[in-house]
Amino acid sequence: MSNKYKVKTTLVEIDGDEMTRIIWQMIKEKLIPPFIDVKLEYYDLHVKHRDDTNDKVTVDAANAIKKYKVGVKCATITPDNARVKEYNLKEAWKSPNGTLRAMLDGTVFRAPILVSNVKPNVRTWKHPIIIARHAYGDVYKNAELSVKGPGKAEIVFTDSNGKEERKLIQEFKASDSGILQGMHNLDSSIRSFASSCMTYALDQKIDLWFSTKDTISKIYDARFRNIFQEVYEQNFKADFEKNKIEYFFTLIDDAVARVMKSEGGFLWACKNYDGDVMSDMLASSYGSLAMMTSVLVSPNGDFEYEAAHGTVQKHYYKHLKGEKTSTNSMASIFAWSGALKKRGELDHTPDIVTFAEKLERSALSTIESGYMTGDMAVIAEPAAKKVLSTEEFIDAISARLRDNL
Ligand code: NAP
Ligand code: MG
Repeated sequence: MSNKYKVKTTLVEIDGDEMTRIIWQMIKEKLIPPFIDVKLEYYDLHVKHRDDTNDKVTVDAANAIKKYKVGVKCATITPDNARVKEYNLKEAWKSPNGTLRAMLDGTVFRAPILVSNVKPNVRTWKHPIIIARHAYGDVYKNAELSVKGPGKAEIVFTDSNGKEERKLIQEFKASDSGILQGMHNLDSSIRSFASSCMTYALDQKIDLWFSTKDTISKIYDARFRNIFQEVYEQNFKADFEKNKIEYFFTLIDDAVARVMKSEGGFLWACKNYDGDVMSDMLASSYGSLAMMTSVLVSPNGDFEYEAAHGTVQKHYYKHLKGEKTSTNSMASIFAWSGALKKRGELDHTPDIVTFAEKLERSALSTIESGYMTGDMAVIAEPAAKKVLSTEEFIDAISARLRDNL
């Protein structure tokens, strides 16, 4: 095609592992270069290359996203002992997503991809419900004790001058045994979480819900509520009103009840534990792991798009044995379209946004017209017309995209 769309600014591309690496290559061959011109700055996070660079490549990739503002990432292996052996690694390097998140100070947003022939388990949900999970502190960074009475449990804070502040937790009687837990969070982390959520809601032009148990936790959870309110009033209220979207806070129980009766179409900001639990509930209610996108948004306006699933190890081993696979590339394709859309917005090149939307439309309509991978075929109604292989599915989308352009 001679009149290819042109992406103005460099896009950061982060390659990954196993089956998603295979899919990545197919997307790059069949869905991107035939249609658009884009300069990619490539970082190879293949686990072996991370090992060769002592994980410096992950840090370089994060810095590149800070520089260019938009990146697209393939799923990567987080090495454990088995992987250290499998790939003969020097050590079990940290999770690349953890490193990127820490360096970009980001929040992760997960959104389902909806198609008309897969119905969510909750009948009222018509639009995606997006979860923003705070990824710092609380029970994930706690201190726990198992104790036997008699004895007294207190919470103690000692400042740098040695001054103590303490509160009684519980007097344990001689007949008591039990458990204790201490946890914390940081105002700065909560503030950056709030900013990220509000930036995302504005970006997507959707309402933002935030919920905690502040009636019971009058200092801890109430601090979350207050910081969100402060950040909203100081930095976002005017823009929310201009875009006719709403921020509201409610008790977590009330939020859960409302979510189950809602039509969807909003962002639900959750504390760390709530987000962990609720995102799994949402993902399974919407159908398939492969129909969930994920984007890391920093308060500075850096965006990193990826699939929410992993490297689909089992399918990769089948692929290596030369067997036919039927791996769903939707989440990886939407990572690319999300990144391109954002690039187009930041560059003020609406034709790139339009291209990305047509790419998404082509992918969705491929499934909606009955052509899909195995994971979707088991839940689709009406039944699939044809179950496609990994490559056939991408080819089908590519053909449709060509027609749509
Ligand atoms: P996974 O990749 O999420 O896959 C788990 C299972 O879910 C698959 O075996 C498959 O089920 C199904 N599935 C997931 N994605 C699919 C897709 N696109 N199409 C069809 N089915 C799909 O988890 P894993 O295989 O247990 O983990 C592999 C590696 O991924 C691990 O090393 C982990 O560290 C890494 N990981 C990376 C990320 C990330 O980079 N964002 C996230 C999570 C995990 P069936 O086998 O039943 O078909
Ligand atoms: Mg979970």
